[in-house]
Amino acid sequence: MAYKSLQEIEERCRAEGISFSEAVLLDDLNERGVSREDSRTTMHGMWKAMKEASDGYDAALRSNSGLVGGAGGKMREYVEKEEPLSGGFVGKVISSALEMGESNACMKRIVAAPTAGACGVLPAVLVNYQREWKASDEEIVDALYVAAGIGQVIASRAFIAGALGGCQAEIGSASAMAAGALVTLRGGNEKQISHAAAMALKNLLGLVCDPVGGLVEVPCVKRNVIGAVNALSAADMALAGIESRISPDQVIDAMRQVGEQMHPSLKETGEGGLAATPDGKQAITKTVTPGGK
Ligand code: SF4
Repeated sequence: MAYKSLQEIEERCRAEGISFSEAVLLDDLNERGVSREDSRTTMHGMWKAMKEASDGYDAALRSNSGLVGGAGGKMREYVEKEEPLSGGFVGKVISSALEMGESNACMKRIVAAPTAGACGVLPAVLVNYQREWKASDEEIVDALYVAAGIGQVIASRAFIAGALGGCQAEIGSASAMAAGALVTLRGGNEKQISHAAAMALKNLLGLVCDPVGGLVEVPCVKRNVIGAVNALSAADMALAGIESRISPDQVIDAMRQVGEQMHPSLKETGEGGLAATPDGKQAITKTVTPGGK
């Protein structure tokens, strides 16, 4: 039976003396009736696709609407030529998150983890982590199992779609998944993984889904940045021994409640928040006017 709580995963880890990633992998074998080799091959395939998507960014591309494109290239150039306030590593994470979000808006192949709108968060931290700290593909795949386990629990207790729970459910979930993945890469235990995920999710609680023109472009591309950077800080807090005062599963439940109470105009309808601002409305009118720019 698929895990319904992070506590359940933690308890299994402690009872069987296994890692968080192993507990998720064992559940996958049980759920899908596949061999360990098949399961890991699939996950390696996901990782390969993420790396290819990251490498395949084209700064010259613009989305059909003309709303996004080129920001990842600008950020990368800035990181290479200047001294980013957030430091070189975080600067690269920001570039990668923008790049993947833009690739999605420009219809390039991405890995929706957990959704296309939030596709930049996990690769931004994992691709750069591997480059910076030379983690092996096997270690990254272990981290992806951790991310998958967190995502699965969030999906079963709450939601991972902006249309159901607002952007907290998309970027928030992606950030929680990335935070847990980072903790495992750094050797953190199952409790630290859960608390990193909880802290990441808490920081984005209440985030509305308000895409301009209903397109997954503005503010989506840049929200991938906050999801990725938030994951880094939540992982560091957990690794420092800081815990969420609200238990991780209760944080997920709170996210569900907030999402349920959120006004429909703030759940991917493109009718509220930034989409309803004069600039938001004007931006989309321009894009649909022939020759408009
Ligand atoms: S604003 Fe909505 S569509 Fe855009 S990333 Fe967030 S949840 Fe997805």
